[in-house]
Order: sequence, then C-alpha cells, then structure tokens
Amino acid sequence: MEIKVLKNIMERNEDLAAENRRLFAEYKIFVLNMMSSPGAGKTAILEQAIPRLKDRFNMAVIEGDLMTSRDAERISFHEVPVVQINTESSCHLDAGMVNRAVEELELNDLDLIFIENVGNLVCPGTFDLGEHVKIVVLSVTEGDDKPAKYPLMFQESRACILNKIDLLPHTNFDLDRFYKDVSDMNADIEIFQTAAVTGQGIDRWCRWLEELVTAKNGS
Ligand code: MG
Ligand code: ZN
Repeated sequence: MEIKVLKNIMERNEDLAAENRRLFAEYKIFVLNMMSSPGAGKTAILEQAIPRLKDRFNMAVIEGDLMTSRDAERISFHEVPVVQINTESSCHLDAGMVNRAVEELELNDLDLIFIENVGNLVCPGTFDLGEHVKIVVLSVTEGDDKPAKYPLMFQESRACILNKIDLLPHTNFDLDRFYKDVSDMNADIEIFQTAAVTGQGIDRWCRWLEELVTAKNGS
C-alpha cells in the first residue's frame, strides 16, 4: 500500500518535470539545479557567479529552503529576479514546487535559471525538476567520505564544486581519495575547486556553465 502511494507521487513528479522541461524548451531557458548539504556554500557561489555572468545572460534564481527568505534576500541584492519556495516540512524541492515558482517569473526575459535546492545530501538527487543539469556542491569541512556515503548525488550530477578549498590546510580532507571516489562513481563528472568567500575558482566554473548555456540555447 505504501509502495503504491510512493509510486503515485513519483509518477506525478515525472509528469510535472516533463511540463517544466517543455516550458524551459519553449522559452529557451537553461536550468541548473544546485544540490548540497546545508552550509556548503550554494548561495555564496551564486553571489559570486551572478555578477560574472550578468553581461552575458538574463538570469533568475529559485530558492528552496524549509524556512526563511534569507538566501533570497542575499540574491536579490544582485538585482536578479528571485522566487523563494519555503518547503516547510519537505526536505527537497519537487517538480510541482518549481512549476509554481516558474509562474512568478517573466520567462520571455530569461536565458538561465538557477534552482538552489534545499540543503540535503539525500533526496534532492531523486527528484527530477525538469532541469537540464544537476550539480552538487561539497565543502572540504564536510569530509572526503561524503561521496562514498551519499553516492546518488554525485552519480546524478554533471559537475561537483568542491568549495571552501581555502580551508583545506585546516582539515584532514584527502583530495586524492575524494577525486578517486567521485570519478569511480561518475567517470564524466567535472570537478571544480572554489572558495566562494574570495571568488577563487569561480571564473573557471562560470566558463563551463557559459559553454553549456550557449550550446543549449544557441545564444
Ligand atoms: Mg543557501
Ligand atoms: Zn526530501
């Protein structure tokens, strides 16, 4: 019985994800879904990336959080449209939530939407939002064992941003083990090292993203 309920939820999600995908294709918008545990630096990375990409693309951000609009307030400082989703009791975004958030945006004006998922290394990886690419952010302070413990996120992601790399000397994070574990579970994943507080490594990630958006939208 419970299995049936779960199956229905996932089928419904697939339908709404397909609807989102259709909308994004119609308006030629590239959509990136950012996942990580809480505090890995998703918002900080966006704060660095948005000013770098602003001349090139019209962007919007969909912010997922259980509570508060603090991340949305940080993003809106950069003068891009931002929609906050408060999931309250849900630990991930689903396609329906994104569908309703997209209604708040002027799609004609957009080339790129960032979706900042709820901070959680588990179930966001299982929900298709209709995005083009998922990426995962991991910070060195979380430990090099996280890819092995939460493989789905790393298997589903086109890129992994290893953030807070400036703190590496203060941790026992083993870069070699991290690269090996991640490449073993996803041979095609691109790995970037960043320090969002200083902007280190952000240019390289932005160039990667720029290429993806341009290839997809032909802009
Ligand atoms: Mg955030
Ligand atoms: Zn969840």
